[in-house]
Amino acid sequence: MSADEHLPFAEFQELEQKYVMQTGKHQPLRVVRGEGMHLYDAEGRQYLDLMAGIAVNVLGHCHPAVVETLERQARLLIHSSDLYYTEPKVLLAKRLVELAFPSRVFLTNSGAEANETAIKIARKWGKKNKDGAFEIISAFGAFHGRTLAAVTAGGKAAYSKWFEPLPPGFIHVPFNDLAAIKAVTNDRTAAVFLEPVLGEGGVHPAAPGYLEGVRKWCDEKDILLILDEVQTGLGRTGRWFAHQHAGITPDVMTLAKALGGGFPIAAVLAVPKADVLEPGDHGSTFGGNPLACSVALTVLEVMEREHLVEHAAEMGDLLQEAVESLGQQDARGIGLMRAFNFAEPIAKAYQNRCIEQGVLVNATDDNTVRMVPPLIISEADIEVAQDRLKAALKT
Ligand SMILES: *Cc1c(COP(=O)(O)O)cnc(C)c1O
Repeated sequence: MSADEHLPFAEFQELEQKYVMQTGKHQPLRVVRGEGMHLYDAEGRQYLDLMAGIAVNVLGHCHPAVVETLERQARLLIHSSDLYYTEPKVLLAKRLVELAFPSRVFLTNSGAEANETAIKIARKWGKKNKDGAFEIISAFGAFHGRTLAAVTAGGKAAYSKWFEPLPPGFIHVPFNDLAAIKAVTNDRTAAVFLEPVLGEGGVHPAAPGYLEGVRKWCDEKDILLILDEVQTGLGRTGRWFAHQHAGITPDVMTLAKALGGGFPIAAVLAVPKADVLEPGDHGSTFGGNPLACSVALTVLEVMEREHLVEHAAEMGDLLQEAVESLGQQDARGIGLMRAFNFAEPIAKAYQNRCIEQGVLVNATDDNTVRMVPPLIISEADIEVAQDRLKAALKT
């Protein structure tokens, strides 16, 4: 089938059901092309994308610099495995460390794998340095990905209950409650593991002082602080990394979503104290491949050249005003990570109304609507978004 020939939507949906495991909950929209802030369906209709592939497409869709790098690197070398040295990986690791904090980097393919790596770091660190301490304190409502350890660390029972027995050593506490962390800390505690803003959990930022307090507690008790910046990292919150708002540094940080601008890649940064993995301890066949790393380098370059981090902070304030103007409950968020609540459980119906109005958002639960647009969003885009989000309220 050629690129401009598509099965009728209903027929296509049947095919999807027949051949694809039904793990996803799709919105009723088939997208076939993207450009900048917009996605297009098979009928050529245009949608203003406030989701960016779930906080991934920071430069929008098919950014020319990303496409150019993909083409250039694909002709040079796509994959060679970790058996040999490759250059893009080293350059990317260096760039990430320069942007973040003194550390070294492990490169992998997805947020869950990055978090799995962070969990293994905490386990080994506890074994080596804390008399076998292995417990990891994480938050109810948190999301860390879908591997077995990641769903266990995550704070949503619905994602783990079918997969028991779960790996031991994960203790959950309410988010934004330092006293709760203190209460469960003991000799077996190896790490505290948090998102700086609950993302999938409905865009709930850390309360002022929370991360500072957790950092201080971890220092006092000599336990690692792991921050999952898979969603918040790389400009999303109006700083390169969300922990910078709190003026603290984690011991381990995980990144993924935005890093490849749409191409799968993830990273784990560990400060010298937590840099415990040695040859043979861990690995990834695809991790750090030249294609993914070249694209990530380009994404970081464009973000810097176009000052997209500062831009995200400015546009984030405008998006907040637009969300407030909808007149619903609890308009909130940070940078270009925003949400509001409906009093009634109509978020999923609203999401579909938004498609009809040509704007894409996401219901994280029955009441909550989230937006994580590309960082290239303009003031004009936000005005259009506001009109369409309002129109969807009326229908
Ligand atoms: C999306 C997400 C993950 C999981 O990333 P995958 O690439 O889907 O494995 C982990 N943590 C956070 C905070 C996320 O938003």
